[in-house]
Amino acid sequence: MSDYEVDLFVIGAGSGGVRAARIAAGHGARVAIAEEYRIGGTCVIRGCVPKKLLVYASRFADVFEDSAGFGWSLPAEPTFSWPDLIAAKDKEIARLSGLYEQNLTRSGVAIHRQRAVLDGPNAVRLADGTRVTAKTILIAVGGRPVHDDFPGCKLTISSNEALDLAELPRRIVVAGGGYIALEFASIFASLGVETTVIHRGAKVLRGFDEDVRDDVHAGLAARGVRFVLSDHIVSVEDGADGKTVRTKCGETIAADEVMLAIGRRPLTPEIGLEGAGVECDHKGAIIVDDTSQSSAPSVYAVGDVTDRLNLTPIAIREGHAFADTVFGGRRTAVSYQSVPTAVFTTPEAASVGMTEEVAREDGHEVDIYKTRFRPMKATLSGRDERMLIKLVVDAGSQKVLGVHVVGEDAAEIVQAAAIAVKMGATKADFDDTVALHPSAAEELVTLR
Ligand code: NDP
Repeated sequence: MSDYEVDLFVIGAGSGGVRAARIAAGHGARVAIAEEYRIGGTCVIRGCVPKKLLVYASRFADVFEDSAGFGWSLPAEPTFSWPDLIAAKDKEIARLSGLYEQNLTRSGVAIHRQRAVLDGPNAVRLADGTRVTAKTILIAVGGRPVHDDFPGCKLTISSNEALDLAELPRRIVVAGGGYIALEFASIFASLGVETTVIHRGAKVLRGFDEDVRDDVHAGLAARGVRFVLSDHIVSVEDGADGKTVRTKCGETIAADEVMLAIGRRPLTPEIGLEGAGVECDHKGAIIVDDTSQSSAPSVYAVGDVTDRLNLTPIAIREGHAFADTVFGGRRTAVSYQSVPTAVFTTPEAASVGMTEEVAREDGHEVDIYKTRFRPMKATLSGRDERMLIKLVVDAGSQKVLGVHVVGEDAAEIVQAAAIAVKMGATKADFDDTVALHPSAAEELVTLR
């Protein structure tokens, strides 16, 4: 019999923590999990899922507009209710959170609905004072939005609050040029909100292929998002007509809401890491090895709290691999190669593998195959839009190193293409594949 009350105590019931808990329990471990907020974590409660529901909502405006070109006439001008959308979204989130909880319970995991912090390397202290000893502890507490410290910063919101606004603002300023800033700017602009993005860089979406960055920027601008680039907010004031945002370069912008999306940081402060001998890097991320083990041998960490690749499917894999390694007797490491990713703006962008720039920096001589075309749907709708499909191919081996798509269903297309890239497909393999006609994705196999 073990000297510990449980074999595994998981702190944080988000994507990574829940997967680890369930798999470990499946391997026969006695598992407990603590969650101070709602079961499901960032992805389910205030990230990927609610965001995507809002993305769907935002795209109906285009559908209504485009339908005229296909013979439809709407009986009346469509109207939109933000409170109705938020209520429907909340209902779905509650359903999903309930499912997560049910699955944990069915797996035999004991759930503590309160905050837990480390109390040494083999125990946690719950908010009610209870101390639970554990042979292994998994930290899966995720991250939180970064705040800034300019005057009036307290008047700003993050994506957390943006998902729960009581009313749709008339005007919004969004700071940042990454995933969250652009996805929310796209949602708000499509819903008719006067939207300004203030970004410190000269281009948005650092890290993506240059063509993707250009096309997402151009696509959002064409849909009415105003970009203030190479600038940043220096103050926000409250006034009779909403808020006044001032920037370093002298812009003054009136807004009803100001949302900061300038990155996320691991949620490591005040969870007892020092006392347990768990080391963090300069950003506060827990340092782990390829099995997610920290500097304290009994403490592991997965997901955004480790700041490896902050994506839900990665946290899930890390949680699963941890449980298989520690409780399943099978050392498993996660591969971070060829991980597909998407930005759910309109136009949508998705990528897998290397950008043209990284491939060249990496010493590859590359062949670039690229097309920008008008999707068939845009012919009758009359919408002025172009789709981008780009392949980055190693000139010597002819291996497809990267696939980059901007336009409708980019994420769906790239998910399928990612299998080929992961398998090491060559340009000839793509060319050997018969086109599925008529589709936008067929361009992947007809590029010359
Ligand atoms: P990102 O790291 O993607 O973007 C942060 C943005 O803020 C960058 O444009 C950055 O500029 C800018 N920035 C950083 N610090 C400052 C500062 N002090 N002042 C002004 N601007 C600043 O973070 P997000 O918050 O957008 O998203 C967090 C993570 O969540 C992402 O990395 C992603 O992994 C994940 N996510 C994934 C999604 C998806 O898969 N669809 C959706 C949403 C989030 P610069 O480029 O110059 O550094």
